[in-house]
Amino acid sequence: MVLGDLSSRITSAIQSLGKSAVVDDEQIDACLKEISTALLQSDVNVKLVMSLRNAVRNRVKLDDALGTSSGVLNKQKTIQKSVFDELTKLLTPSTEQPVFKPKKGKSSVVMFVGLQGSGKTTSCVKYAYHYQRKGWKVALVCADTFRAGAFDQLKQNAAKIRVPFYGSHSETDPVRIAAEGVEVFKKEKYEIIIVDTSGRHKQESALFDEMKQVATAVEPDETIFVMDSHIGQACYDQAHAFHSAVPVGSVIVTKLDGHAKGGGALSAVAATNAPIIFIGTGEHLDNLEPFEAKGFVSRLMGMGDISGLVNTIKDAVNIEEQKDMMARLQHGQFTMRDMYSQLQSVMKMGPLGNIMSMIPGMSNMAMPEGFEKHGVERMKKFVVMMDSLTDEELDSAKPITETSRIMRIARGSGVHPEQVVELIEEHKKFSKIVSRMGKAGLMNNQGLASQIGRNPAQMMNKLSSVLPQNMLNQMGGAGNLMNLMKNLEGHEGMADMMKALGGPGGMGGAMKKKRR
Ligand code: GDP
Ligand code: MG
Repeated sequence: MVLGDLSSRITSAIQSLGKSAVVDDEQIDACLKEISTALLQSDVNVKLVMSLRNAVRNRVKLDDALGTSSGVLNKQKTIQKSVFDELTKLLTPSTEQPVFKPKKGKSSVVMFVGLQGSGKTTSCVKYAYHYQRKGWKVALVCADTFRAGAFDQLKQNAAKIRVPFYGSHSETDPVRIAAEGVEVFKKEKYEIIIVDTSGRHKQESALFDEMKQVATAVEPDETIFVMDSHIGQACYDQAHAFHSAVPVGSVIVTKLDGHAKGGGALSAVAATNAPIIFIGTGEHLDNLEPFEAKGFVSRLMGMGDISGLVNTIKDAVNIEEQKDMMARLQHGQFTMRDMYSQLQSVMKMGPLGNIMSMIPGMSNMAMPEGFEKHGVERMKKFVVMMDSLTDEELDSAKPITETSRIMRIARGSGVHPEQVVELIEEHKKFSKIVSRMGKAGLMNNQGLASQIGRNPAQMMNKLSSVLPQNMLNQMGGAGNLMNLMKNLEGHEGMADMMKALGGPGGMGGAMKKKRR
């Protein structure tokens, strides 16, 4: 979780309320004081913090007067809810602006602006990667002729994600390069053409002039302002200055992984009414998270983000492949090709830490050092090995046993034969789980949520008997897993997906009927 310190302090301040027998004014004040201090230390503007504190206090008073929530747990809930609402307000622009959306089959030009070192080039590539993963035709143009090495930096990163790029080592006119690059990619029907511009160390007229000239030449459909979060609430003035120079459409706030002033940065940008569309959460190319105030605050408060999770799943899952697999799973079959597509979906979902923060009950779970990196590398290696399998091997549910085959796969993928054996063992492990789940009736598409609703204890037993204990522990226990499934299936977005998968009315459908 980004802003991890702020997150754990807010969460524990609210949890501490639930620990005592009564919640009186004194305890509420102490809780609000702790939350305020945490926000101030994250550099949120003092006026904003004061007004948040007052608003929460007033809500609690009103609640008391109306007598709507008595009892410790209810009071805790009221406070949690009002802190949630106020924090969300703090991160939501007061006027809603239309946010740019690319159009299929049409070329859109997206220009990135910002100071030098703010993370523009990195964010351009992350942005390209984000859309490319979703199936868009993207291209990069380097119009930074100011900094030596700018073109090479973009070139190397673009090559990593296999996105075409345009730039020059010798041309010194950024306007010309930008115009040429955009023209080339428009002709080739690229859908999202990203223009990286140069920065300067500070806001100076040369930078603004250049920005305006590039903008005139490429006529951007969207201008994204990239800002480093380390200056905290000072982001407000910087955003204003850029805003008055070029019409900024939206903002990416970077380096939220590394700085203590992230809360201040985000709230200051929101105060300028420019929508934050993404946040940068690390140096890796997949460390870019779509930003949405409600989901962000929900995760910050350790409450998870079911909508965000559903969207992530929907983006990563290939419905057609999934359909085929479901059919096989009902017969207890899990082929290597199924494992291949599952691994690819998981990798598409982005960093594991990000997924975990969306799961209620797991938001604040700390991951062991290197867990993420190790896991991703292992998955990538599996995928490379599976690329060396024949179609017949991919489609068979039977494990590969012949030494000659193992040797051939190892040679083909450049790994040690032991690693191929590891892959085969992993596949066996999953096959076993799948077949046990099928036998326990957990695969029949009828909606796990409704089964949970009918008989929670029985479901708990089923889950504990089919899933290995360490896997269950990693998911926060069977209780947490059941909650997650209920939440997921109850979500409208998930119901659509289940319908597309051909479940009887969809799993979510079962939930809805029950509610009526
Ligand atoms: P530019 O001058 O605006 O193009 O900035 P760069 O993209 O070259 O980034 C400057 C430095 O910030 C590089 O070392 C990047 O790796 C680093 N950086 C960019 N975004 C992030 C982020 O979200 N988190 C962290 N930790 N580093 C970042
Ligand atoms: Mg740059």
